[in-house]
Amino acid sequence: MEKKLKVAALKDGTVIDHIPADKLFKVVQILHLDSCKNQITLANNLESKKIGLKGLVKIADRALAENETNKLALICPDAKINIIRDFEVVEKRPLILPDEIREIVQCPNPVCITNHQPVQTRFFVLKENDNTKLKCRYCEREVKAEEVKIK
Ligand code: ZN
Repeated sequence: MEKKLKVAALKDGTVIDHIPADKLFKVVQILHLDSCKNQITLANNLESKKIGLKGLVKIADRALAENETNKLALICPDAKINIIRDFEVVEKRPLILPDEIREIVQCPNPVCITNHQPVQTRFFVLKENDNTKLKCRYCEREVKAEEVKIK
């Protein structure tokens, strides 16, 4: 009898590779994979020459929306997104934050208007050397990208 692993190649969909192992379940959370009905493959603590231990997510028949790639760019900027069609990588999408992020991040300042009024959050993205910070457009509070609270 033939036994095959079902986790083999992905026909169509998205592969997120080089996720730091400690961020894998954060990725699961922000992409709402717990309620996603598509075929999903998760792997974690795989050996990576580049980053030590890495996680990997494969999602069949799903493309990521722009706000989803922005969220990934905040929590795992060095992850790699591959778009697969007919078993081939047709696009490698780098995770690059835009100059302004709307909606997806919550302001850490408890008295900020965005935490009290139905106002969409807006943050300027500030890049200094290797550090990325977000600055609230309303209250000017700054927060490190890796410490943001994603909505
Ligand atoms: Zn604010």
